[in-house]
Amino acid sequence: MKAAYYCDKEEIRVEEVPIPDITDREMLLKIKLACICGTDQRIFRFGHFKIPEGTKRVLGHELVGELVKVGAEVKGFKTGQRVAVAPNVGCGVCDMCIRGYNHMCPEYEAFGISYDGGFEEYMKIPYEAVIHGNVIQIPEGMSYEEAVLAEPFSCCFNSFQMLQTKPTDYVLIIGAGPIGAMHAILHQRAGAAKVIMADLSASRLEQMRMFGDFTLIDTSKEELEAALKRETEGHGADVVITACSVPAVQAQALELAAPLGRISFFGGLPSGRDEVGLHTNLIHYKELTVVATTGSSLKQYKDAMNIIATDQTNIAGLITDMFGIDDIQEAFRHAMAGKGLKTAIRFD
Ligand SMILES: [Zn+2]
Ligand SMILES: [Zn+2]
Repeated sequence: MKAAYYCDKEEIRVEEVPIPDITDREMLLKIKLACICGTDQRIFRFGHFKIPEGTKRVLGHELVGELVKVGAEVKGFKTGQRVAVAPNVGCGVCDMCIRGYNHMCPEYEAFGISYDGGFEEYMKIPYEAVIHGNVIQIPEGMSYEEAVLAEPFSCCFNSFQMLQTKPTDYVLIIGAGPIGAMHAILHQRAGAAKVIMADLSASRLEQMRMFGDFTLIDTSKEELEAALKRETEGHGADVVITACSVPAVQAQALELAAPLGRISFFGGLPSGRDEVGLHTNLIHYKELTVVATTGSSLKQYKDAMNIIATDQTNIAGLITDMFGIDDIQEAFRHAMAGKGLKTAIRFD
């Protein structure tokens, strides 16, 4: 089979390797679709502390496929089933795991980081992932294109749950990439009074029209604070989400928030650039709530799958570009150039 190995920074090699062996307690997944995520791009560029130098690893943690082998001792699954695999595998016994925060487990393993991920034709699902509930059946009638988005969607849903958006809220999302779009879809669905998206790129903003009736602010042409005032009748944003990795935007979010506003620092910052000067008096005098989330729990992953199953938005439209595994290096360059929305690797 073909597997795309991350070997070193900026280097992914497609190799012909044997299909992985599985034990009686494991499963083998024939990958159908795997998306390139911001995390994959960061690893491609900078490496990852869980991938020691000299190790080769198949990246990709947004993945779906069909079970082609199910170990004799595995319960609840059969070959031919269409499944998605939630990437973060908790240890199952620590405080965080017991409370349901498997993605916060200090001993977590993850597909595409410590286990081989989705950029290969067949992926082994190790025992720990099987037993901890990471393998999730794709609802009937849902396409692979929709199902593969459950992972990033679940991360946005984690943030959404923290923000507790109400129907009277003005919601501002800074960053009109695929993640910004998913936040917007969730807040629109929750009935926010207005969902406002801001970005420096007119073409990225334009793509957002596919997913809903959002108010779009082109910050290359218009000053954000003034435009926001106009769109919210001087009120400001009740909810601000930073769906980008720009330090200054976090500081600006405090200015843009209305009194009693809630702010989600969603996009992580590049390491070494995460020290941001914040006017904390804005938090103090406006009684702001600043939250942040990382990843998602298994429960949120399942919830995301169910939301996508019932949502009327064309969520699959977020995948704008598909490449074969042989062209994965090109797919990475394409995604990293910020072209389109989501880039996926498709397997036949
Ligand atoms: Zn991801
Ligand atoms: Zn744990």
